[in-house]
Amino acid sequence: MKAPDFSYEKPNSLSDVLNLLSDDNLECQLLAGGQSLMPMMNFRMASPGTLVDLSGISELSVINVTDDAIEIGAMIRYYELQSHESIKKHCPLITKVLPYVAHAAIRNRGTIGGSIGLSDPAAELPAVLLCLDAKIEITSQNGVRLEPASSFFKSIYETACETDELITKIILPKAQTGQLFGFHEIARRHGDYAMAGVCIAQDADLTRRVAFFGVSSSAIRAFGVEKILSGVSELSENIILDAQNSLDEIEFEGDMNAGPEAKKHIAKIVLARALKEMK
Ligand SMILES: Cc1cc2nc3c(=O)[nH]c(=O)nc-3n(C[C@H](O)[C@H](O)[C@H](O)COP(=O)(O)OP(=O)(O)OC[C@H]3O[C@@H](n4cnc5c(N)ncnc54)[C@H](O)[C@@H]3O)c2cc1C
Repeated sequence: MKAPDFSYEKPNSLSDVLNLLSDDNLECQLLAGGQSLMPMMNFRMASPGTLVDLSGISELSVINVTDDAIEIGAMIRYYELQSHESIKKHCPLITKVLPYVAHAAIRNRGTIGGSIGLSDPAAELPAVLLCLDAKIEITSQNGVRLEPASSFFKSIYETACETDELITKIILPKAQTGQLFGFHEIARRHGDYAMAGVCIAQDADLTRRVAFFGVSSSAIRAFGVEKILSGVSELSENIILDAQNSLDEIEFEGDMNAGPEAKKHIAKIVLARALKEMK
């Protein structure tokens, strides 16, 4: 199938983007890398009146390192993130996870803002943002606001970003001395969306944050698992078993890859593996 008719705008300033978004009659949708949106339009799952191409907005393609954070512009593409020295140094979990996000051709075009803006439940980056306690900068004609990742991902393809707003930056705290990170996913083929996966961040004081993807209607923190794991210096088989058993707190949802029970089983496996592979 081909996409339904639409208008196309390629503004070259953020204020022009905001003007377009504020006009309800245009029924705008933002175009970042197009790796999800274009197929969705072709399948008629999305039918924007006006496609607003963000590729001309240079300020969205900047990575800034501040004293305590890394600020990643929404239009930074996966391949740029993957090879960026500051990201390797200050956000090693992102560097660890990116080779599992889709395939190289998609990573050449896909953007962090597109991944976050889509909120696919099986995408890796929303879970990374959750376990790193990231903040998402959202801009509209009314100004700029910061939304914590914990309240940003509402459900499948639904976020806290309203139709007159866009994601401008993702703000991640710099990794601290003594922090460790874990990640594991199981997919049918490398590069496919995961059947289930998990990201873990462990602080020097042994606080652990655990976020799953591919198991529910959006990426989610597993607070019960975190409670069992936090403060524990040695992750024995019994502790890991307790953590696996506490996964009942999650309302597992099936997709075309697996049903809820299979997802729960895979979630237990990825949790144990990620904990054993923390570094
Ligand atoms: C075969 C295949 C396999 C894939 N496998 C994976 C995978 O394993 N893991 C994974 O995470 N992804 C996967 N993807 C999706 C891929 O990562 C997409 O690139 C990503 O989901 C969307 O990024 P994009 O930049 O292409 O955004 P687009 O497709 O351009 O946009 C996606 C959505 O985000 C919105 N949006 C874009 N920018 C903004 C912004 N600044 N503010 C607010 N909303 C915005 C758009 O309006 C749209 O609704 C796969 C895609 C394909 C085709």
